[in-house]
Amino acid sequence: MDDLIKVYGAGWCPDCRRAKRFLGDQRISFEWHDIEVDPDGVRTVQERNDGNDVIPTIIFPDGSHLAEPSNEELAEKIGLERMAMMHVYDLIVIGGGPAGLTTSIYAARENLQTLVIDSKGLGGQAGVTERLDNYPGFPEGIGGAELADRIVLQAQRYGVEMLQAVSVKSITSDGEEIDVETATGDHYHSRAALIATGSTYRMTGAPGEGDLIGAGIHFCATCDGPFYQGANQLVVLGGGNSGLEEGLFLTQFVDKVTIVQRGDRLTATKLLQDKVKVTPKMEVLLDREVLEFRPKDDGSGKLGAVVLEDRESGATEELHPAGAFVFIGLDPNTGFVKGSVELDDRGLIVTDMGLQTSMPGVFAAGDVRSGSTKQLASAVGEGAAAAIGIRRYLEALDAKPMHMM
Ligand SMILES: Cc1cc2nc3c(=O)[nH]c(=O)nc-3n(C[C@H](O)[C@H](O)[C@H](O)COP(=O)(O)OP(=O)(O)OC[C@H]3O[C@@H](n4cnc5c(N)ncnc54)[C@H](O)[C@@H]3O)c2cc1C
Repeated sequence: MDDLIKVYGAGWCPDCRRAKRFLGDQRISFEWHDIEVDPDGVRTVQERNDGNDVIPTIIFPDGSHLAEPSNEELAEKIGLERMAMMHVYDLIVIGGGPAGLTTSIYAARENLQTLVIDSKGLGGQAGVTERLDNYPGFPEGIGGAELADRIVLQAQRYGVEMLQAVSVKSITSDGEEIDVETATGDHYHSRAALIATGSTYRMTGAPGEGDLIGAGIHFCATCDGPFYQGANQLVVLGGGNSGLEEGLFLTQFVDKVTIVQRGDRLTATKLLQDKVKVTPKMEVLLDREVLEFRPKDDGSGKLGAVVLEDRESGATEELHPAGAFVFIGLDPNTGFVKGSVELDDRGLIVTDMGLQTSMPGVFAAGDVRSGSTKQLASAVGEGAAAAIGIRRYLEALDAKPMHMM
């Protein structure tokens, strides 16, 4: 019997995309069958659904199937734990990426009852990164999923309780007890909490982008630029400060870096624009819309072409860079604390030197924090620092006479 989940659907079907995203978020491998191009796929779908074309139809290794399942039905089928064992914890960690998991390991080793809640799969962005080459301790580099699995195992070893596919909806505090409400309608209480929900890189939304992430499409020049040492060309999408800064950084690896900007002018500072002008390896294309990211024809699954449209003339052109870096902004995952915790003008969480937020007992670490460097090693470091801040906070709370609490 095949041990891979098989998803039957079509590219235009939003429910199919949702189901694929859900499985991907949980880092569950599956086989995709596009019934538009696969006649066997159509037959399979019809056999399973009394002759009807119901998509997505998802067939599991045990031979059973679900037709058009909701995320909740999928979570139950794959055995995800979505309700915690208790209602009260010493520490609740919101976000099971590298920062949150590191804090949880430190806290649980010190016998704090710790619950981690993650809206997707444990491991965060690190878990979906193809390869990490700059994380200390792995001289040959390490696959992101493997590193994430190792961190999760370490947290399990210390008894950290972890929920996946559960979003936190709000966090409030009455000054003594913190209340964390989840989208599943549960309330969990704790004496301290950590917000480590990271940030989401904005994507262009052009067809092909999602499938080529890590296979030619990237969001971090420091992380992935060195992979392109000696290549001919890289494309940078975005003409703001990040696009130009990262583009200039990438020139050390390749012969040419092409900045593609949607608007009719660059929006980066004049200083950066001047630098770009005098850097012979830099080229700027204005007024270009990305129409599509196309994979190579050789079946490698790597980026083959970036198809652009000149927004003025309507003409299309194809670039064939070794890789494309997307720098069109970052959305901090802080919607659920807007109005309750202080945020900076970009929506990132403001903390004091000890990583405590404006809500007493609530700390923040990693990519979600204002001033963070958006690097894995820093996220892990901030997770450790937050754990120590939390320990001190709880000690101070325990030392308070009862009438002051
Ligand atoms: C494609 C890619 C490649 C990268 N490569 C490198 C690299 O080579 N080297 C490097 O140092 N860094 C790299 N990074 C950056 C690195 O992965 C991040 O800096 C790091 O993962 C940040 O960790 P974090 O724990 O702060 O946040 P994240 O890893 O983003 O984890 C946050 C977690 O919070 C969860 N969450 C969000 N909202 C909620 C909510 N409301 N309720 C519950 N949970 C929630 C998310 O599901 C996620 O699991 C890369 C990033 C990407 C996207």
